[in-house]
Amino acid sequence: MRRRVAGCTLCSLCEGRTNAVPGSGSAGSRIMLVGEAPGRSEDARGEPFVGAAGRILTEALELAGARRDSVYITNVVKCRPPGNRVPTDGEREKCMPYLEAEIRLVGPSMICVMGNTALGSVLGLEGITRHRGKVVRKGGRDYFVTVHPAAAIYNRDLLPVLRADVEKLVRLAEGGPA
Ligand code: SF4
Repeated sequence: MRRRVAGCTLCSLCEGRTNAVPGSGSAGSRIMLVGEAPGRSEDARGEPFVGAAGRILTEALELAGARRDSVYITNVVKCRPPGNRVPTDGEREKCMPYLEAEIRLVGPSMICVMGNTALGSVLGLEGITRHRGKVVRKGGRDYFVTVHPAAAIYNRDLLPVLRADVEKLVRLAEGGPA
């Protein structure tokens, strides 16, 4: 699947990318985290969440007692949109089979959607503020909703919100109480 993503030309986002960015982590991870799209650092390195938002996410995971290499991290679209704009509905639809394949291959017990784009694309819901911190059951799978780590770069009030959500996510994925 990584090879297919690397050579994918299904949507026009392939035209501006340096690297396509498939998910990263081990098959069998209990937790899968899904963001929006690669940014500049991710596009340059071909790895998800390696820039400022990635550092915030890694720190939140570590504070919750989870090593980053124990989870699987990916995005709704695998190529960087120009200027970091939000991916269009068409781009998300073209790329969705890769995310569906990642979910099948990894088989996580909890899938965390981070931010409005992932919330809408994966669960068909709107309003991250209303849904964050909650579990949504869909298609026989459990999803957990939180803010996108990049939002905490610009709004530091979201940092404790994200950290508390990630702590809850890790606890739930380990079978702990809600
Ligand atoms: S964003 Fe997804 S569908 Fe579009 S070219 Fe990249 S891998 Fe293919």
